Amino acid sequence: MSQTEVARMKSPLVPLATLIGREIRGEKVQEPYLKYGQAALAKKGEDYFLIKPDCQRIHANPSTSFSVFAIFDGHNGNSAAIYAKETLLDNVLSAIPQGSSRDEWLQALPRALVAGFVKTDIEFQQKGETSGTTVTFVVIDGWTVTVASVGDSRCILDTQGGVVSLLTVDHRLEENEEERERVTASGGEVGRLNVFGGSEVGPLRCWPGGLCLSRSIGDTDVGEFIVPVPHVKQVKLSNAGGRLIIASDGIWDALSSDMAAKSCRGLPAELAAKLVVKEALRSRGLKDDTTCVVVDIIPSDRPVLPPTPRKKQSMLTSLIFGKKSQNGSKTNKLSAVGVVEELFEEGSAMLAERLGKDIPLDANSGIFRCAVCQVDQPQSEGLSVNSGPFFSPSSKPWEGPFLCTTCRKKKDAMEGKRMSTPTVAL
Ligand SMILES: [Zn+2]
Repeated sequence: MSQTEVARMKSPLVPLATLIGREIRGEKVQEPYLKYGQAALAKKGEDYFLIKPDCQRIHANPSTSFSVFAIFDGHNGNSAAIYAKETLLDNVLSAIPQGSSRDEWLQALPRALVAGFVKTDIEFQQKGETSGTTVTFVVIDGWTVTVASVGDSRCILDTQGGVVSLLTVDHRLEENEEERERVTASGGEVGRLNVFGGSEVGPLRCWPGGLCLSRSIGDTDVGEFIVPVPHVKQVKLSNAGGRLIIASDGIWDALSSDMAAKSCRGLPAELAAKLVVKEALRSRGLKDDTTCVVVDIIPSDRPVLPPTPRKKQSMLTSLIFGKKSQNGSKTNKLSAVGVVEELFEEGSAMLAERLGKDIPLDANSGIFRCAVCQVDQPQSEGLSVNSGPFFSPSSKPWEGPFLCTTCRKKKDAMEGKRMSTPTVAL
């Protein structure tokens, strides 16, 4: 008997029929475990990453554990990237009601991610520093993966069968028409740099500021139409698990999603991350900070990596994801091929659409909690469901939850409403 055969006998794979049987009988399928690795090459030193595999929903209760992986690609300095790395997770968690069950927690997570991103942005901008950062923020709880992102870092999912899917949306003006329209509608201008007597060069940027991205955290000196509201996607993997590749644009400018996934299949996560970086470097050279985090979500009863999938199935992938919509319209294509269950996807930049309509009310009457920053404020000072028409007569009444004065101002600024300079009729 060979070594491999011995290994296989010690840890037999659970037949699919058994797994399906368990699900039908309502038996709990064992939680997966994670293996992860990271690799990076610095050019400007503005890429940061976060690996926190030991978070807990309920303090000191290991059965409520979840993991967080994130990449922050800074620009015009590194302070926004560092600030987001240090504060974003806490800001997200503080927006989830205490004492939630696991299902409630996962359901509250997309909205909490929006609140946490916006809060982090407001706090950083109050520091008066001008740098900005992309964020790709991944929360893994059992088989459920939730990804929130602003900017052009990317997270892809490689599942068994060779289906590679994009869990993020690129917020690049050059490639995202919906975002160009939003920026223009909010009072920004989109165009290229003008040099040498009027000839246009480089990618599309928005003005004032000249940023190529349409969403980020920070960027105090750029128009408020560059918003921190993330695209959020939540999926539940099948019991076969999968691999996440999270990386900054140093990777994606050199490699397609398929190329990145293929370049490291069958290798353990630590080695995979190194290989993806090496592959990007080989094809493009070191032109930018290049950071990659690889996370394998592995079924507990299958201690070996899934075999390299056949090529034919990879072809299918490009077909499935070739025409993906840009800003998070709901799609069931992934679930249609039985790879994962799509739980949630939303990419709107409008807070009213992202925060829901319920109002978290404090027990004391008249005191409301801001849905973004979680600060308590008397209702008279903030923005509630009823104060919309009074507050801004020209626009639609606010239908979202209570916002404090600061977050209300932020919301209006992002949507291009200038409260301080009322329109004068001529
Ligand atoms: Zn607030």
